[in-house]
Amino acid sequence: MSCGASPRDHHPVRKKRQRLLPTLALPRRLPDFPILIDPPDLSRWIKGNNGIAGVIERDSGVPGPEIAVISLVHGNEFAGAIAVDRLLRADLRPLCGTVRYVFANLEAFARFEPGNPTASRFVVEDLNRVWSADRLAARPGSIEMERAQELLPIVQRSDLLLDLHSMLWESSPLFISPQTERSTALATMLSSRADTRFLSLTDLGHLGGARLIEHEHFACHTGSACSILLEAGQHWRPETIETSARVVTHFVENAAFLHFGSRQTANPVSHQAVVTDNIIARSASFAFTDAYQGGQIIETAGTIIATDGEDEICTPYDHCVLIMPNLCVRRGQLAVRLARSLT
Ligand SMILES: [Zn+2]
Repeated sequence: MSCGASPRDHHPVRKKRQRLLPTLALPRRLPDFPILIDPPDLSRWIKGNNGIAGVIERDSGVPGPEIAVISLVHGNEFAGAIAVDRLLRADLRPLCGTVRYVFANLEAFARFEPGNPTASRFVVEDLNRVWSADRLAARPGSIEMERAQELLPIVQRSDLLLDLHSMLWESSPLFISPQTERSTALATMLSSRADTRFLSLTDLGHLGGARLIEHEHFACHTGSACSILLEAGQHWRPETIETSARVVTHFVENAAFLHFGSRQTANPVSHQAVVTDNIIARSASFAFTDAYQGGQIIETAGTIIATDGEDEICTPYDHCVLIMPNLCVRRGQLAVRLARSLT
């Protein structure tokens, strides 16, 4: 299903296919992604130091914002955890205020198997789809819900939160923020402080449930708390660790600047895009017309990027950004998000 706030002047995203088109052969199963990094030894951090397992608090001793750096929300995305482990050993802490480093889904991480590396994303359910108020208020029915409720006090007291993720398919790194001005300002400021030119994205969320960055503490329009998610690169590549470490370092070292700056609405916006369409594969024969990479820009509106049963999928406007195309998508899954560049 294509959904979202598509302006009327859009070229249609989905229409009946006029003719047969060459497409990529649909792989029967996921390709073998090389695992070029080893899972980190987190044993020294598992107990934590503030009463919650996997939560390590570092206080500057000077009043200031409370910030959180979250890794391992997905158990098999450990590049961010390697970066955090390294920065904890280097005693990275802010000039003022407090940082809490969180290793979120340790149970899933403990199940990581190089022979089946995608299986340990979670144990029972996706920890990044459970952050709505009603889910969090209900009795936990899974390891992940128990963990979310355990971590909730950390989330609710954070002025700024950075959630570290990575991607299965090759893609340029990008930031995702909830649709509040203050969080998009945070993305812009962090991107400029860390000297990255990553795309900063606001999107349509996930049909499966609320992500951590969308918890009401960050998503409500009246508060001041900000959140941001980093997709740092492919899950198991060394450069994904370096990207994560660079962003975390700037996030922590500039916490006060980011906290106060995000309240100013006049921040310049750079390299920003907004997702307009989530493309869900309706058929088992969904196939892209090329091996697109995340972050790739399709210049011309109406370019056919995929076929889906009897339909063809077209870019709705010029300079359309493809966000995390899934080249092995199954029926009912999210195949790609389409984003309109704002700058
Ligand atoms: Zn993730």
